[in-house]
Amino acid sequence: MMSYWKPEIETMDPKDLRQMQSEKLVKLVKYVYDRSPFYKKRFDEFGIKPEDIKSIDDIGKLPFTVKQDLRDTYPNGMFCVKNTDVVRYHASSGTTGKPTVVGYTQNDLDAWAESLARGMTAIGLGQDDIIQVSYGYGLFTGGLGVHYGSEKIGATTLPAGSGNTERQITLMKDLDVTAICCTPSYFSYLIEAADHMGCSIKDETKLKIGIFGAEPWSESLRKRIEERSGIKAYDVFGTSELSGPLFIECEAQEGMHVWGDMFLFEILDAETNEPVPDGVVGELVVTTLIKEALPLIRYRVGDLASLDTSVCKCGRTHPRLMRLKGRSDDMVIVRGINVFPGQVEYVLVKFPEVSPHFMIVLDRDGELDSMTVQVELVDMASDKLDDYHKLKARLEHELKSILNLHAEVEFVAPGTIPRSEGKAKRVTDKRQF
Ligand code: ADP
Ligand code: ZN
Repeated sequence: MMSYWKPEIETMDPKDLRQMQSEKLVKLVKYVYDRSPFYKKRFDEFGIKPEDIKSIDDIGKLPFTVKQDLRDTYPNGMFCVKNTDVVRYHASSGTTGKPTVVGYTQNDLDAWAESLARGMTAIGLGQDDIIQVSYGYGLFTGGLGVHYGSEKIGATTLPAGSGNTERQITLMKDLDVTAICCTPSYFSYLIEAADHMGCSIKDETKLKIGIFGAEPWSESLRKRIEERSGIKAYDVFGTSELSGPLFIECEAQEGMHVWGDMFLFEILDAETNEPVPDGVVGELVVTTLIKEALPLIRYRVGDLASLDTSVCKCGRTHPRLMRLKGRSDDMVIVRGINVFPGQVEYVLVKFPEVSPHFMIVLDRDGELDSMTVQVELVDMASDKLDDYHKLKARLEHELKSILNLHAEVEFVAPGTIPRSEGKAKRVTDKRQF
């Protein structure tokens, strides 16, 4: 049975949705101009007045914002409300530099939970479910974000947080947990750790759904996770600047529904800043339509993605954000070729002989960059040397065909690649420039 949290919004006529976005955008532009010296200055420099924005068609006239703006105005120079109206702060994990602080009013927190409640309902979660939240709690938005979504739909929430893996598995089993939220790399580790404890997640727990995100992962990792654990794995996307985790796929597993009554998504060609058509990968730019404490205008998230604006199989009319290609700043350039860690993962998960944990090591070999992928063998027995040589050649061949670049495969013993409880670190760059 198809369930919706807010059917009248989730399935609204796309024309009406666009009209609603137009009205909200006009209000937002006035709101930020009147309340934030940062935005007033930015608009003035750009020669734009709130009156110039009459509808969503004028969005291209607005200046962009970037993460650096949040850093420059650290900690709260971009906020549009008084400190006393801020009911919560979070801080980003600082994957790409100095952390940034974000703030929320009570309405902001409610909208955040509402966004997740819609997404959780769309994958069949509800009152009868027991949801284990294994994202980190604290300054990171992951834990508390999905926690409030889970409470909103009336599920039972298990705030496991990150780490303490054996206890997580024991509780999952003993409390009949039906769904888990964490990073895909942590869940891969959980499957492995459960095996070591002699517990099969597939056969000995009630787990049926996983909500995985906060880092890039691939379709092939989804397959591997689903096969090994017997669950349905769904992608979830968000960033601390937009609130935190926000958008989940529906049962169709064909992109994450981004709620158009709350956010306006653009995908732009990184060079021309012009919108690209559906399905074409470009830079993700988001405008928050209803955020009060820290509204963002045309925020360049730093991710590469594409949208599908056609009506989904589930009947929802809001655009879908397709699986992310990676961060524009996650990419490493090796011998002039763009490499995303996700491409390596995509290759590795196709090989059952190796684990999905890996580390890319970049170095300089004279003038040339060298790239080594450290890969864990699932089973390392000394009588199989011949097989390893063949496996190494097959892996290198496959990597070459995906990356257009030779990468040396180095096998390491099972369990040597550091396991992450949150976002996995995939690259060690030893090159001197
Ligand atoms: P940061 O890591 O920059 O400090 P966040 O913790 O808010 O800030 O992380 C947000 C970033 O995580 C996104 O911009 C994106 O790059 C990545 N991310 C989150 N969810 C996903 C997902 N489902 N797929 C790919 N990348 C994701
Ligand atoms: Zn759908």
